[in-house]
Amino acid sequence: MFQNLSERLEGALKVIKGKHKITEINVAEAVKDVRKALVEADVNYKIAKEITERIKEKALGQKILIAVEPYQLMIKIVEDELAQLMGGQKADLMLTGSPAVVLMAGLQGSGKTTFSAKLANQIKRQGRQVLLVACDVYRPAAIEQLKTLALQIGVDVYSEPENNNPVAIAQNAIQYAKANHKNVVIVDTAGRLAVDEEMMNEIEKIKKAINPCEILFVVDSMTGQDAVNTAKAFNERLDFTGVVLTKLDGDTRGGAALSIRAVVEKPIKFIGTSEKIDGIDVFHPDRMARRILNMGDVVGLVEKAQQAFDEKEAERLNKKLRQNQFDFNDFLSQIQQIKKMGNIKDLMSMVPGMSKMMKDVDIPEDAFKSTEAIIFSMTPKERENPQLLISGNGSGSRRKRIALGSGTSIQEVNALVKQFEEMRKVIKKINAMQNTGKKLGKIFGR
Ligand code: GDP
Repeated sequence: MFQNLSERLEGALKVIKGKHKITEINVAEAVKDVRKALVEADVNYKIAKEITERIKEKALGQKILIAVEPYQLMIKIVEDELAQLMGGQKADLMLTGSPAVVLMAGLQGSGKTTFSAKLANQIKRQGRQVLLVACDVYRPAAIEQLKTLALQIGVDVYSEPENNNPVAIAQNAIQYAKANHKNVVIVDTAGRLAVDEEMMNEIEKIKKAINPCEILFVVDSMTGQDAVNTAKAFNERLDFTGVVLTKLDGDTRGGAALSIRAVVEKPIKFIGTSEKIDGIDVFHPDRMARRILNMGDVVGLVEKAQQAFDEKEAERLNKKLRQNQFDFNDFLSQIQQIKKMGNIKDLMSMVPGMSKMMKDVDIPEDAFKSTEAIIFSMTPKERENPQLLISGNGSGSRRKRIALGSGTSIQEVNALVKQFEEMRKVIKKINAMQNTGKKLGKIFGR
C-alpha cells in the first residue's frame, strides 16, 4: 500500500536527517520535495501546495524546540498534516432507523458489490440481522455475484429478477426487511462505466424513495484524480455521507486517499484491502498517516489479532502446549487463526519499519497452502500422533503417501515434519524451564 509515496516522502525528508537545526534553507528544500512527492502521488496540486505551506510554517515556528531532533520533529509535523488532510479523526458508520438503510453508489467496477457483502459480513458479526438488496436491473450477473457472496457469509439477498424498476425493488426490500425483522438493509445499485445523467437520476430517485441513513460512495483508489472527480460529481447529486476507498492493496501512490476528503469534505469511512470478504478496514486517518511514513500501525495490528482471536481455542491450545501434547491438528488450528487476520505481507507491513523490508519480498496469498494440504492428507491418527511420522517403522512410507496425496514432494513433507519436531523440542524446553522456575520458587519461598 502506498509504497511509492512512502519512498518519495522518505527521500524528501532525508535533507533534514542528521541536521542539528531547522533552518529556512533545509526546511524549504524538504518541503519542496514533499510537495513533489505528493503531486507525483496524484494529489491535487492546490492541496499539495496548501499542506506543504502549513508544514513549512509549523516547522519554522518551532525553531526553539531544540530538545527534539529536527528530523523527528519534521516527521511528526508531516504525520499530523497528512492525518489532518485525510480527515483527522475516524468517522463511524451511523446506523439509525428501523431498519437502518445503507445505500451504495459508485461506478461499475469500483467494488460496490464486493464491498456491500464485506460490510454485511462485518455488521452480521456484530449480531445484527442484515439484508442485502440487488438493485442492478441491467446486469443479471451482478445479482448472481451478490447472491454468491451472500451465500458465503450467510446473509439473505432480496432481488426481483422480473422487475426492471430499481426504485420499486428498493422500496419492496425495505417492506420485506420490516416484515422479516432485519435491522440493517444494504442496497447495492447499478453503476455505469462513467458518470451519466441516467444513472444519477436513478440513484437520486432511489435515495428519495428509501431515505437512507448512510449513502456510501464507493471508488477505486487506484484511479487517483479520476476518483476525486467522480466523487465530486456523485456528491453534488447525492450529498453522500461517506467514502469507501477500494483496492488500496494495489494502490502505490495514494493520491485519492490523500485528496478526496479535502475536495468533497466527506469522510472516508472504510477501505477495501483485498478481493476477499474480510478485506475491509475502518479508515483511521492517523494510522494511515503513520503507515505512509513507514511508522507501522501497531494498534491496527493488535486489533486485527483481537478480532481473529478465539479465546476458548487459545486456552485449549495453551493447555496442550503446557502438557507437551501439541499435535498437527493444533498446528492447523493455529494456521487458521493466523489466516483469519488477513494477508501476511499486509500484516507484516503494519510492524514499524517492516514495510520497506517487505517491499521486494514475495509472500504468496496462499503461503500456507501446501502446509495445509500436507496436514489434510494425514490420517486422523497421524495428526494426533506426530511420532508416527517422525521416526520408527513405516514413517518413511507414511510420508511418501502424504506427499502423493497432497500433491507436494517428499522433501516438503520431510521439511514440515522436521519443523514440527523442532517446534515440539522448543516447547518442551520452555515447559521444563517454567517447571524448574516454579520448583525454585517453592524452594526460595517465592
Ligand atoms: P462493482 O461493479 O462496483 O459492483 O464492482 P465489483 O464488486 O464487482 O468489483 C470489481 C472487481 O474489483 C472485482 O474483481 C473485485 O473482486 C475487485 N475488488 C473489489 N474490491 C477490491 C479490493 O479492495 N481489492 C482488490 N484487490 N480487488 C477488489
